[in-house]
Amino acid sequence: MNHLAVLTSGGDSPGMNACIRAVVRTAGLNNIRVSGVYRGYQGLIEDDIIEVNRDHVRNTIHRGGTWLKTARSDEFRTPEGRQKAIANLRARGIDALVVIGGDGSFRGATALSAEMEDLPVIGCPGTIDNDLFGTDLTIGYDTAVNTAVEAVDRIRDTAASHNRLFFVEVMGRDAGFIALRTGIAAGAEAVLIPETTTYIDELVQKLETDWKERRRSGIIVVAEGDDGGGAIEVARKVQERFPQWETKVTVLGHIQRGGRPSAQDRILASRMGHGAVLGLLQGQSRVMVGVQSGQVVYVPFEQATKHHQAINPYLLELVEALG
Ligand code: ADP
Repeated sequence: MNHLAVLTSGGDSPGMNACIRAVVRTAGLNNIRVSGVYRGYQGLIEDDIIEVNRDHVRNTIHRGGTWLKTARSDEFRTPEGRQKAIANLRARGIDALVVIGGDGSFRGATALSAEMEDLPVIGCPGTIDNDLFGTDLTIGYDTAVNTAVEAVDRIRDTAASHNRLFFVEVMGRDAGFIALRTGIAAGAEAVLIPETTTYIDELVQKLETDWKERRRSGIIVVAEGDDGGGAIEVARKVQERFPQWETKVTVLGHIQRGGRPSAQDRILASRMGHGAVLGLLQGQSRVMVGVQSGQVVYVPFEQATKHHQAINPYLLELVEALG
């Protein structure tokens, strides 16, 4: 391996910059040239690529987002689009690729490597959703949970002062990890997630008990992909059945995606970026770098993207017991 390329793809997540930095510096230490690809796969198709060295990544470890920028590319989903990318990789003499992104980005990497078999490809899981199998944590998840918890803490002040019941929607179309962790850390009364069926009756029953016991404010955390229909819909259903409560809805939205990465995310991203280059040097390909029980591991893309890890039932019980 003489010349690797690194790109960030799909949704941005805090810690991607720390991961790029680790890739660039580890490659430099091993005398490998590095090219940075702007705007993910779209930049690969358009040859929007620059050579980078260790100085390009100075003063980036603490910044959210990704300085290489990211994009979604419909063209890359087509064989013709990928052929353009392959021609650019060959013309530049790039002989390995590091993809920092989520499950979609890894599907793209799998498609690319099937059509350019001599190109080793390795992935670092950059997504706030934590929805990849084979790693305990993804880059950006910890920061996103901390951001959501801080927001819920603020909302709780208003909920308590005004005797209101707040439904707070957090990100997670398919996975309830952000909602569950946020709910536990922010002391939510209940957490609604896509992995479990939401029974409005049960929720109303719980709220009735609270009301009888003179509790007049509360926080319900709802994952955006919850089967109950998201926070606005759940709040509407509850309000219909239970008009005594004054309900309010806050959708946190994109404030959860950006921001300074937490120390944990910077460390995780540094380990994964470093692990990606070491993995390539060991001959790994078509794998994602993961961390399991504190150890760096390599997980085949097909496994990582097939499904996400299961929700820990103990954490669900914890919300119920303490909420
Ligand atoms: P994420 O990586 O955050 O899950 P996306 O699902 O948007 O984000 O995927 C990022 C990009 O990866 C897409 O815009 C597309 O270019 C590429 N991609 C995703 N799935 C495939 C696929 N099956 N084949 C080829 N490219 C894909």
